[in-house]
Formats: sequence, structure tokens, C-alpha cells
Amino acid sequence: MGIRSGTEYLASLRDGRSVWYRGQEVNDVTIEPGLGRGAQTLAEFLDRAQSPEQIEALTYEQEGERYSMSFLKPGSVEDVVRRGKAYYEWAKWSNGMFGRTPDYKNASVMAFSAAADFLNENRTSDSVTDFAANMRNYYDEARRNDYVLTHTLINPQFNAQLAKEGLSSPEVALQVVEENEKGIRVNGARLLATLGPSANEIEVFPSTLLRASKENIPYAFAFAIPIATEGLRLICRDTYDEGKSTFDAPLSSRFEEMDAVVIFKNVFIPWERVFMYKDPLLCNRAFAETNAVVHMMHQVACGKLAKVEFIIGLLCAMAHASGKDKDMRVKEQIAEAMWVAETVRALLFSAEAHAEQDQWGIYVPARRPLDTSRNIFPKLYPKLIEMIHMLGSSSLMATPCEADFAGDIAEDVQRYFQLTNMGSRDRVALFRLAHDVAVSGFGNRQVLYERFFFGPQNIMASIYYDLYPKDEMVGRVESLLDSA
Ligand SMILES: Cc1cc2nc3c(=O)[nH]c(=O)nc-3n(C[C@H](O)[C@H](O)[C@H](O)COP(=O)(O)OP(=O)(O)OC[C@H]3O[C@@H](n4cnc5c(N)ncnc54)[C@H](O)[C@@H]3O)c2cc1C
Repeated sequence: MGIRSGTEYLASLRDGRSVWYRGQEVNDVTIEPGLGRGAQTLAEFLDRAQSPEQIEALTYEQEGERYSMSFLKPGSVEDVVRRGKAYYEWAKWSNGMFGRTPDYKNASVMAFSAAADFLNENRTSDSVTDFAANMRNYYDEARRNDYVLTHTLINPQFNAQLAKEGLSSPEVALQVVEENEKGIRVNGARLLATLGPSANEIEVFPSTLLRASKENIPYAFAFAIPIATEGLRLICRDTYDEGKSTFDAPLSSRFEEMDAVVIFKNVFIPWERVFMYKDPLLCNRAFAETNAVVHMMHQVACGKLAKVEFIIGLLCAMAHASGKDKDMRVKEQIAEAMWVAETVRALLFSAEAHAEQDQWGIYVPARRPLDTSRNIFPKLYPKLIEMIHMLGSSSLMATPCEADFAGDIAEDVQRYFQLTNMGSRDRVALFRLAHDVAVSGFGNRQVLYERFFFGPQNIMASIYYDLYPKDEMVGRVESLLDSA
């Protein structure tokens, strides 16, 4: 099949999955109020990716079949750049507000498949399954069917102290409860599956570092299964799509990607879908040593560039509307947002230009620039939102709705909401957008997402510190001291 149309994608979600939302099991996630419009947006994106204008840049051909660009195994620096362009294009369609477009997980599946030998060569458990073959087959299947994937990497919180020590809490954590010649059975919960209700498959991979001890063996695994698997249940948070028009809620009416906690009730996983098993050490090393984390960082940095560019556009439009763009202090503030964009752009350029072939034979962007981007963005995004607050102030509240322009108070709304450089309707539209970015539930979830979706900030920073080539720098300090 290769690439799928939006209609095919939506049809694939009507598969008897168990999604729970506000006390009810959802019958059809593609039309459920609060859930459906996000899935429909993704369907539009899938169609757009194969439109005549985009198909060359966003897909590639292999043996007569077309596949999404994010599945391309990069064989050169140029391929890495092609992948980056495709990520950026996808992200621009939502201006980075639909974080979990399928290219994010595709990047990881592609990298795991290229490095599949890692899974066999480095295993320390006595399992005889051919994990490498399973991973390669899964990549082929995901690519051929153009799956939309979600993933859950962490167990629910139960005992913070145990988690800090790299141990799991049996009361809640997902664990293997049975093994036979056909596969394994798992029980427990995982979080957080962003886009879970609108995904085809879920990858359940390890991310938190597990202590390499006997107690952790039942918790150390990786597998992927369809969302519509018996015993699998998704529990959604409240939606941020309240059914408003695209004028009233320009982002939350389109880009609600829904996060869900995933419950596994004795779920059966066939061996061919298991990629790591009973192996805490292997699990701890997997994302880094397959370079999956670097390919994911690449997709993320492209998305963050699109997002910060959009926020610059928004800040400039807001400043111009009221004439504040003549104020040096305002320019200085917006310039700070511009520096964020140019920093991410430069990091991306550096990562792509310095791409090199890795030990698995594919090209991987340079890690450090991307790692810098993934570490600074969670700290800078809340500051960008603060800029919108400071610039918008009460205008973020002076936001009558679309209906007010047609009702009895239309004349008042037309007169009292105009700005020096902008008519009333355009001003309200602009500030409703700013509200959706910086004030609404949707906007606040975006801030939380940026803070956490790639993991706890201190852990990411600590990994960065460990990998940083600092010895020569320390050596310079020491040699200066020695010369005294
Ligand atoms: C909007 C949103 C979407 C998300 N989507 C996904 C998704 O699709 N898939 C997925 O798998 N996950 C997803 N996540 C979850 C994300 O991976 C976690 O939020 C993140 O790893 C932090 O874990 P936690 O939420 O359990 O917080 P906690 O573990 O409570 O962490 C909170 C703080 O505690 C500290 N901390 C945590 N662990 C340690 C430790 N071992 N040592 C020292 N300090 C520590 C950190 O400072 C952190 O800031 C999402 C999160 C959000 C908010």
C-alpha cells in the first residue's frame, strides 16, 4: 500500500478499539465530539503529503512503491537533509501545534530497524527469539501500511523513591505475567499515549533507566501491537476541543491530539511483535545505541523551528496591530523570540551538515546540536508564551466570539474592538489565536508538552553533561594552573 489517503486512515480507526472518554466507551473516534476533529486534521495532512505539490518532497519511491519520507533510511547527508525538509513541512501545517504527526514515531522505527542487529548482538537474556528480524519485519509492515503510531515509555507514578532508584512498582507498572511458545502476556499500565485514540498501533518501549537487577526483569521489554487489541484500554483526559468554530478556537478546533493512559489487562503479545525481552541492560542502551533518539530529536527540532517561527509571526502581528511595533522595548522582546528561532535553525543546520554514517550503515545527524535544541527548547517555550502574555495583556481577554459579530451587539463589537492598524473582526481573530496559543487549556497543555514530552529536563541535561566533550576544556584549566 505504501502511502495512505486520509479516508483510508480514518476508516482504519473504526476497528473496535476500547477508548474511554468522560465515563463512556467511544463508539467511533473519528466523529466523537472532542476527539474526531483531531483525527480529521491528521487525515487532511495525509492527503496533503501525497498532493502533486508535495509528493516528491514528502515521500520517496522504492521498488515501484511510495513511502513516507520519514521511513527513508538515509544513505547520505543529502538524505538526512531531505528527511529534515519533510519533517519541517509536516510541522508547518500545524505550526508545530500538532506535535505527534506520524513522522515522529516513524523516525524511531526506521532507526531501530536499521540497527536491528543491536537487539540480537547485545542481549543478555537467554531468550531465543530473533528480535532483529522482528524489528525489520515491523518496519516493513509499518511502512507498507503507513501506520500512525503512538508510544508509551513510562510506568504510572506510584512510588517516586523507587522510580528514582530505577525500580518499578508492581502495583501499577506494566509487567510480563506469562510466557509461552506463542508469546507473552502483560498486565498493568503505561503512560502517556499522545494521539493514542487516533493511532493504529502502540509501541511500548523502555525509556526510564531500569536498574539492571533481577527485580526488573518482568518490566524490561519492548513490543508493538494494534490499539484494537483485546484487553487494551485507553483512558483519555478532558478534551481541549470544545466544539468551537475555527474562528473562535483556531488551534484547539483543529489540533487536539489527545493524551491517554493505557491499561493492559492480560494483553497477549505474539513473539513476532517483541523486540526486547527480560533485559534491563539492553533496554537502557537501546534508544541511544540504535541512534533512534537522534533521529527523533531531528524530527523534533524541525517541528520546534516551525513552532517558534509561528510564534514570532504572531508576536509581530500583535505588535503591529496596536502600533506597539514602533516601541524599542517591544522590538527587543520580540527579537529574543527571533534569537530562539535562529538558534534552533543553526543547530539544525549544523546537525544535518555534520551527519555521518553510523555503525549500522545509515547516516545520522550530529547528535550534539540536536541534543542542545532538545534541552533548551523546553526551557525557552514557556518564555515565548510569557512574551505573548506581556504583549497581549488585556487584549487576550477582549475577545468576543464569532457570533457577536452577527448578533444585536454587532455594532458595538465593530466599533470598540478596532485597533489603529486593524479592523475589529481581524483584531478579535488575531487575539483569539493568541489566546489559544497562550491562555486556553489547549495552549497550557502545549506548554506542559514542551516541558515534558521528551522526558524530565534534569535527566536530559544530565545525559547531555555526561556526553559533552569536556576533558580538553578541563585540561586547559589544569595546564594553566600547572603553569603557575
Ligand atoms: C502533554 C504530554 C504528552 C506526553 N506524551 C507522551 C507520549 O506520547 N508517550 C510517552 O511515553 N510519554 C509521554 N509523556 C510523558 C513524559 O515522558 C513524562 O511526562 C516525562 O518523562 C516525566 O515523567 P513523569 O510525568 O512521570 O514525571 P515525574 O517522573 O514525576 O517527573 C517530574 C520531575 O521529577 C524529576 N524526575 C523524574 N524522574 C527522575 C529521576 N529518575 N531522577 C531524578 N529526577 C527525576 C524531574 O525533574 C521531573 O521534572 C507526555 C507528557 C506530557 C506532559
